[in-house]
Amino acid sequence: MIELISPTRCTGCNICVAICPMDVFQAASGQAKGAAPAIARQSDCQTCFLCEAHCPDDALYVAPDAETVTGIAEEAVAAAGLFGSYRRAIGWSDGHRDNRSADQTFRLLAPH
Ligand code: SF4
Ligand code: SF4
Repeated sequence: MIELISPTRCTGCNICVAICPMDVFQAASGQAKGAAPAIARQSDCQTCFLCEAHCPDDALYVAPDAETVTGIAEEAVAAAGLFGSYRRAIGWSDGHRDNRSADQTFRLLAPH
């Protein structure tokens, strides 16, 4: 399940907002525009990892436990090297980051 977005790593690009098939995120608006999105509907997360794979700044973390929130802290995620770990595990290296748009898997799952 989606656990957290790092407000210091996040650049507010909103790619995760657009790509999440379950509409879990809420983009910042008003004076906060450009800031990290909110995890507004955490319980709707399907643990598909699309957001983690596509985040260009390795700024969010999805835990493999699909049923419960672990509550892991950002410092612990960073210390364990978990930011970007799923992206690296599927072979999307920094050298291939510009090719991420080639994956259209999220369209199969999107409710809209
Ligand atoms: S994709 Fe990453 S950098 Fe962009 S808004 Fe989401 S968490 Fe922030
Ligand atoms: S893991 Fe999938 S369902 Fe959960 S927030 Fe990320 S994109 Fe949305």
